[in-house]
Amino acid sequence: MSDNNLANIKSAVIKMIDTEKGSLEELSLKLHANPELGYQEYKAVEWLCEYLSRHNFSIERNTGGLKTAFKATFGQGKPVIGFLAEYDALPQLGHACGHNLIATAAAGAAVAARLAAKLYGGTVCLIGTPAEELSGGKIQMVEKGVFKELEAALIAHPGNDDIATTQALACVTLNVEYFGKESHAAAHPDKGINALDAIVLAYTSLNSLRQHIEPGARIHGIITDGGKAANIVPGHSAGTFLIRSQTLPYLRELMDRVLDCFKSAAQATGARLEYRFDKSIYAPMNNNMALANLYVKNMDMLGHRTLLEDPEMNFGSTDMGNVSQVVPSLHGYYAITGKDVSGHTPEFASAACSAKGIKGALDAAKAMAMTAADLFGSSANLEKVKTEFQKSTRPSA
Ligand SMILES: [Zn+2]
Ligand SMILES: [Zn+2]
Repeated sequence: MSDNNLANIKSAVIKMIDTEKGSLEELSLKLHANPELGYQEYKAVEWLCEYLSRHNFSIERNTGGLKTAFKATFGQGKPVIGFLAEYDALPQLGHACGHNLIATAAAGAAVAARLAAKLYGGTVCLIGTPAEELSGGKIQMVEKGVFKELEAALIAHPGNDDIATTQALACVTLNVEYFGKESHAAAHPDKGINALDAIVLAYTSLNSLRQHIEPGARIHGIITDGGKAANIVPGHSAGTFLIRSQTLPYLRELMDRVLDCFKSAAQATGARLEYRFDKSIYAPMNNNMALANLYVKNMDMLGHRTLLEDPEMNFGSTDMGNVSQVVPSLHGYYAITGKDVSGHTPEFASAACSAKGIKGALDAAKAMAMTAADLFGSSANLEKVKTEFQKSTRPSA
């Protein structure tokens, strides 16, 4: 396909999102005003599906067996390019992570990318993914094979900078409990087994371990039960800990070493340990740089100075990491606040319904749809994305 064709289709994509601006803004503000927690996003799913079916997408509900997941499809055949939507909110704070904007950007991008699919052939998908904050809905969807048919998965998150990639660590949650024996703390301490001592010992061991782990790895947690009264030897203690690392193999190694800290404290105190690692393990983000480069060029065309990478970016974890292990993925950020505003705050929630927030989402929608056009319109681009992905997921990588 000629460059001229691609340039024309990109202009048409921009124009379509400009035409849709009113409906997309209304959708975004409606989601923002009706925050729903993970796995309860029924209204969000209803409104998104309604918008997409109005634009001739066919809708599948309960995707991957999750009640608030869905898949909207337009067109047919290969390649299949997917935009991912998140729409869950946070307790008390509402849309303080701006997932209303993620959903809006994905919806706008999907509707506009239809133009490229129609011209060049192929399928546009919007996959609605619930509960990003709560328990990583995408992890279960990956396990069910939902993303397997995609040539690329694209998502854009609001933040305080324009960046085409994200740094995200592998992460697992560990819940522990110690069972000791209560007794009078002054009269009969010899008859007690101190469950608080056990968890404090383990906590101290973790502090020692932390000095000798790989850079980028993190171990942090809280004690949620440390006893009932100062004059009773604590018979029960509990805590929740998060273990994170830059790779999955090292995460597994750390899980064993962390567990040793808890087991040795049980042996030292005589308290019995019960533990449970969460089944959902967050994978690290595997950024596809070929996709990120296309996105940067398209954001630049829209007047955003987008960084390819930000070495100073703060690390967290996201279930998009799991998607990026099975399909070439883009997880970009666009600025809706200044650098001093953190996500998960009331200030960020306000930015997520501001004019700047909406404009950011619409620009991200344009850049994602233009990136999809780059893939639909050029088999060379598609091949580059695919080759990089295959190299990055080889076991030796
Ligand atoms: Zn968040
Ligand atoms: Zn988020």
